[in-house]
Amino acid sequence: MTIHEIRDQLRKREVSAREVTQAVLRRIEEVEEKVHAYLTLTSEEALKQAEEADRLLAGGGEVPPLTGVPLAIKDNLCTRGIRTTCASKILHNFIPPYDATVVRRLKESGGTILLGKTNMDQFAMGSSTETSSFKITRNPWDLERVPGGSSGGSAAAVAAGECIAALGSDTGGSIRQPASHCGIVGLKPTYGRVSRFGLVAFASSLDQIGPMTRDVADTALLLQIISGKDPYDSTSVDIPVPDYEQALIPEAKGLKVGIPKEYFVAGMDPQVEERIREVIRTYEALGALCQEVSLPHTPYALATYYILATAEASSNLARYDGVKYGHRTPEAKNLLEMYCKTREEGFGTEVKRRIMLGTYTLSAGYYEAYYRKAQQVRTLFRQDFQKAFEEVDLLLIPTSPTPAFKIGEKVDDPLQMYLSDIFTISANLGGLPAICLPCGLTREGLPVGFQLMGRLFDEATLLRAAYAYEQASGYHRLRPPI
Ligand code: GLN
Repeated sequence: MTIHEIRDQLRKREVSAREVTQAVLRRIEEVEEKVHAYLTLTSEEALKQAEEADRLLAGGGEVPPLTGVPLAIKDNLCTRGIRTTCASKILHNFIPPYDATVVRRLKESGGTILLGKTNMDQFAMGSSTETSSFKITRNPWDLERVPGGSSGGSAAAVAAGECIAALGSDTGGSIRQPASHCGIVGLKPTYGRVSRFGLVAFASSLDQIGPMTRDVADTALLLQIISGKDPYDSTSVDIPVPDYEQALIPEAKGLKVGIPKEYFVAGMDPQVEERIREVIRTYEALGALCQEVSLPHTPYALATYYILATAEASSNLARYDGVKYGHRTPEAKNLLEMYCKTREEGFGTEVKRRIMLGTYTLSAGYYEAYYRKAQQVRTLFRQDFQKAFEEVDLLLIPTSPTPAFKIGEKVDDPLQMYLSDIFTISANLGGLPAICLPCGLTREGLPVGFQLMGRLFDEATLLRAAYAYEQASGYHRLRPPI
C-alpha cells in the first residue's frame, strides 16, 4: 500500500499501526535475504514506535499524515543512536549523537515508524550500489541486476514492499536513477528546498535529499514534511512551502512541455526511447503542448559534473582521518602513518579514485584549467535552462539511457558507470527540481522511468504534471514479481 492508503485505513480504524508494521516486518523476513536492501534493521524500535502510533490514534483528533507508516532511511542520513555508515568501512562504527533535520522532521510529524537504514554506494559515489563496503543490493524485478544507485537500498526496499516509502539523496541522480530502475517515484527537490543538516556531505553544491515512494501523492506528502528553511543549514532557503497535496490535480491541459533535442542521443536503448515517446504522446493526449527545445551545452554536463563533484568530495572527505570518529587503524607508529593507513583501510576503490581526481583538479596549476573552467561552464548550463524556461513550464527527458544493468557488468569500468548518469546530472548542476516516475516495462519486464524538470522552487507544477501522467497511465501500480 501507499502512505495515503494506509493513512485512510488507519483513520477508519480498519487496521492498526502495529498490524501495518508487523506486515512490513514479515515481508522483510520473506524477501530481504534475496534483496539485501538494508544495512541496519531496527525492528524492535519500530514495533515500539508502532505502539506509540496506536496510542496517538486511540487519542482521536487529527491524525498526523505519517502516523503508523513504516519508512526507511538511506544510510548517509544521521540517525541519533543508530549506526550511520555511508556504506563505508571508515564509518563502520559511527553512531551519530544527533538526527539529520529531515529525520527529526519525520519524527516530529508524529507517530512515524523508522524501520532502518538502507544500503547505498559508498559515500553515495556510484550508480549501482555495488561500491558499498558491506553488501550487494539486488533489483527486486530481476535479482541478477543492480537496483541503480546510489540510493539503491532505498529504491529496492520501496519496490519490494520492505517499507512503505524511503528517503534518498541525489548529487547527480542518486534518487532518480534507482527510482527508474526499480519502477518507483523519486524526487530531487530544488537546491535549498530541503535542509541537508545531518546528511553526510559528498558534493555540497549539488547534494539534495528527497522522497522515494510508490506514487506521486506519497512524494508530495513526504516533500511537505521535509521542506523548508532550517537554521542549521545556511543553504536552505526561506521561501514559503506551498501545500503540495493541493497540486495533485490530474490535469496537464495547456502545460508547456519542452523536449530537449540533445537528450535523445545515440547509445540510448531503443526500448527506453520507445517508452519516452509514448510518454510524450500521453501528455499530448492530455492536452499538454509539447515542443522541441534546445539545451546546447548538454554535451559538457558529464565532464563538468565529474570535475566539480570530485573536487568537492576530496575536500569534504578530508575529515575522515581517524582522529575524532570512525575507523582508526590499530597499527600505526606515528601520526602520519595513522592518517595514511586509516584512510587506506577505510575507503573503497571508487572513493579513493574520486579523492585523487578531485585533489588533482584543485591543485596549483590545474585549478584554473579544470575547477574554475567547470564552474564557468556551470553558469552556461544555468543560462540554457533559464532560456528554455522562458518558453516552457517543464522539460521532459529520459532518466537513464538503459534499464537496470547486470551486477558486475560495469563495476570495473568507471567511465561506463559514469555514463549512466548522463541524463540526471544536469538538474543538479542547475539546482533544478526533477522527478522520475515509471512509464512501463521493457519486453524483458524491467521498469523504465522518465524525468520532468521544473523551474527553481516550482515543485508544485512538477507534481501536478507527474500526477496527471500517473493517473492516466496507471504504471505506478505495477509491482515486481518478487
Ligand atoms: N552516480 C553519480 C555519481 O557517482 C551520482 C551519485 C549521487 O547522486 N550521489 O557521482
